[in-house]
Amino acid sequence: MNTILDKAKWITLGRDPREVRSKINPWEYPITAEIRAEDIPDGYGIPVFSKKFEVKENVKKCIVYITALGCFNLYVNGSRISNDELMPGWTDFNKRVLYYEYDITEHVSKVNRIAVPVSLGWWAGRISLGTYGDNDIALICAIKTEYANGEVEYVYSDIDWQGTTDGPVRYADIWDGEVYNSNYDSYSKMSQPNYPCEKLAKVPTVFTGFKGEISPKVGPSVCVREFLNMKPVSATIFDGINDNGSDFGAINVVSVIDAKEASGRIVLKKGQKVNYDLGQNMVGWANFVVKGSKNTTITLRHAEFLNDSGMLSRGNDDADGSVYTANYRSAKAKLKYVLNGAGEEKYRPAFTFFGFRYIEFSADEDIEIISFKCDVVGSDTPETGFIETSSKDINQLYSNIKWGQRGNYLSVPSDCPQRDETLGWTGDTQVFACTGAYNANVLEFFRKWLQDARDSQLDNGMYPDVIPKSRVVGNGGAAWSDAGIIVPYMMYKMYGDKSIIKECYPSMQKYMDYLATTNLEGPLQTYGDWLAYEPTEKRLISICYYAYDAILYSKMMAAISENEGDFFAQKAEEYMQVYNNVRNHFCNTYLNDDGSLSQNTQTAYLLALKLDLIPEEYKEKAKKTVAQKIIDNGYKLSTGFIGTATLNQTLSEIGCSNLAYSLLLQTANPSWLYSVYQGATTVWERWNSYTKESGFGNVGMNSFNHYAYGAVGEWMYKYMLGIETDEKEVGFKHIILQPKPDTRKENEMPEGQEKISWVKGYFVTAYGKIEASWSVDGNTFTYSVSVPENTTATLFLPVIGENTTTVTADGVKCDIGDFSQKDGYLVIDVFPGKHEFVC
Ligand code: BGC
Repeated sequence: MNTILDKAKWITLGRDPREVRSKINPWEYPITAEIRAEDIPDGYGIPVFSKKFEVKENVKKCIVYITALGCFNLYVNGSRISNDELMPGWTDFNKRVLYYEYDITEHVSKVNRIAVPVSLGWWAGRISLGTYGDNDIALICAIKTEYANGEVEYVYSDIDWQGTTDGPVRYADIWDGEVYNSNYDSYSKMSQPNYPCEKLAKVPTVFTGFKGEISPKVGPSVCVREFLNMKPVSATIFDGINDNGSDFGAINVVSVIDAKEASGRIVLKKGQKVNYDLGQNMVGWANFVVKGSKNTTITLRHAEFLNDSGMLSRGNDDADGSVYTANYRSAKAKLKYVLNGAGEEKYRPAFTFFGFRYIEFSADEDIEIISFKCDVVGSDTPETGFIETSSKDINQLYSNIKWGQRGNYLSVPSDCPQRDETLGWTGDTQVFACTGAYNANVLEFFRKWLQDARDSQLDNGMYPDVIPKSRVVGNGGAAWSDAGIIVPYMMYKMYGDKSIIKECYPSMQKYMDYLATTNLEGPLQTYGDWLAYEPTEKRLISICYYAYDAILYSKMMAAISENEGDFFAQKAEEYMQVYNNVRNHFCNTYLNDDGSLSQNTQTAYLLALKLDLIPEEYKEKAKKTVAQKIIDNGYKLSTGFIGTATLNQTLSEIGCSNLAYSLLLQTANPSWLYSVYQGATTVWERWNSYTKESGFGNVGMNSFNHYAYGAVGEWMYKYMLGIETDEKEVGFKHIILQPKPDTRKENEMPEGQEKISWVKGYFVTAYGKIEASWSVDGNTFTYSVSVPENTTATLFLPVIGENTTTVTADGVKCDIGDFSQKDGYLVIDVFPGKHEFVC
């Protein structure tokens, strides 16, 4: 691709010997306390590139085109430009880096200077795991000035630029954190036109190690999400450790400050520490103002939990009440700030981010904290969905699901934001994509990620297990690799956008061609129904996902066909045939003579029913079997990542919404509310990542912010609230309204559960907002909805009273016999506007 950057050169200030660290795969090493305790190295600072340039009079426009291998911030004439963070985000750097465009017209005067600090970022930081090989940090930039008379001038990055490694950020790494010494000149200062040239004496050299494409930015920026400004709910000041009879003892609490005061002034004496509790597991960074003496060093340590006893037997890694960091594995997740002592000093990092709920704040001298809050950082995806119910537990679960997305949709969809991983695991991505698309507008976020998917696709057609691809992660596992087909379909369905199908078509075809070589067996058998309580043969997951791919691909081909019988219409038919072949193969492999499945697990039945793999004559039996299996298991699930992602959705599809409610409201392990009852404020990697009864789970894989199980959010929107798009008129052009109230009778629900009596919420489509609510009062069901202009809607209205004979529709009483009926629901065409139905 020809871009404005073609004439610019990649420039570098050479190798930082510590970058070698990125070649080390921490997963190959035993994760020891020693690795964690190792401090963030404090050597020399991250490179800063700078250029002084002049412009003539009558500037019409001045634009900076810029990107870096590493993460960059742009400063011009003393100001930081734009609210974007962590630019240029993460792409498969072996193939591509995105360039950003910034209009600096209002900042330029006759003499100007730009300064650009660049950190290791995803390119060369530990998270890169050596994937991008030779990892010098580098910058490329073009400054284009347009004058009123039509003249145009360019300044390109080259060896005539200047540089230094003596800026305030001494070290920065996405997993490990940032070290900032404010005794060095700030980047704003460095970008002032009169900044002394001798302080920028390092001469860049040309970097030739980047072999990919430099292409325009796609997708939303990462930014501080102002509407989620977080203040601590408490601050606990402590000093030293008391012996409480446990292995590590307990922190000695000096005082506890409540929510009203916690974000305000706190004086910490040398030796004291303060633990801030944000009340919410979140992703971002601290933002504080402090006062103290020159060279005082502040250290912040992040944690998702506090140690709960000081007991090794409960998995604690330190004293009761201190920050629990073992589950971050080798990620140090620390901040260090060195004071200049000149008065009030304000700081927040810019080249790292953390997943945390707690922050331990300490300093090596007395210090005054003037204010303390946290910024939530993530991809700028406007939120579009909301749900509230009569159950505060379910409301907490819904909030946990949303926070999981806020934290993990950061440049790429990641598995978790805190430990030495934070990778774009494709299985997690695909199971959550639909929920993600209800919660927020993620179309452009995924347009970018699908470009990453195409870049990372293997030569044989497989999509890797993490996207952007990583050197140390495997290839093409079933339900992971298939994200390359499922995600484009979800985006098409949720937003009605066919361009995404067209963009992905050649790559998706290559994947389907690869699947065609597998003898109907589907993608590689790798993770199966990951983390399931009851394992399902991996082969079954692979065959089912092949069937799933074939259906979705067929639908997508039909969507981009323009005329009957054209190329894509034929493809649509071809892949229906592939689906039928896989279906037969599934039946030959797993269907017993009596119609039962030889894999007798919840997940096996759920996938088979969801994908319509069971012959008509045995379907009823299969539905009964899966329902009975759940009941016999004490109304508990036994599914893993794959089964759970479709559990409630499939139950509603087969007419078992009441059972879905029993699972949703289950509080015993494993269940969604079990984690809520153990204190979850985000969805966890394991239902029992922490339990009040036994403490912390195994640190090997124990994230407290892992959105995969939050895929039940899709069910909440689609069936509980009841807002779904017609697959034939996607993007909510034709809306399906299908509220499924909780109509369980005493004898069909687990003991102690309270029914959900009302639900309300909304979803903002491209046409406008759909707002819906329902309530159940005895035998009366009241449903309100608001349908946006330029859409049509069909309501499937449940009649819950056995003797109900009338419906009041917008105040007019009608006989239920006047409506057509389907599966016990009244079928009603609903026009744009507000409506109410009572029956
Ligand atoms: C990740 C998962 C991922 C899995 C693959 C884990 O380490 O955190 O979420 O899907 O590996 O099995």
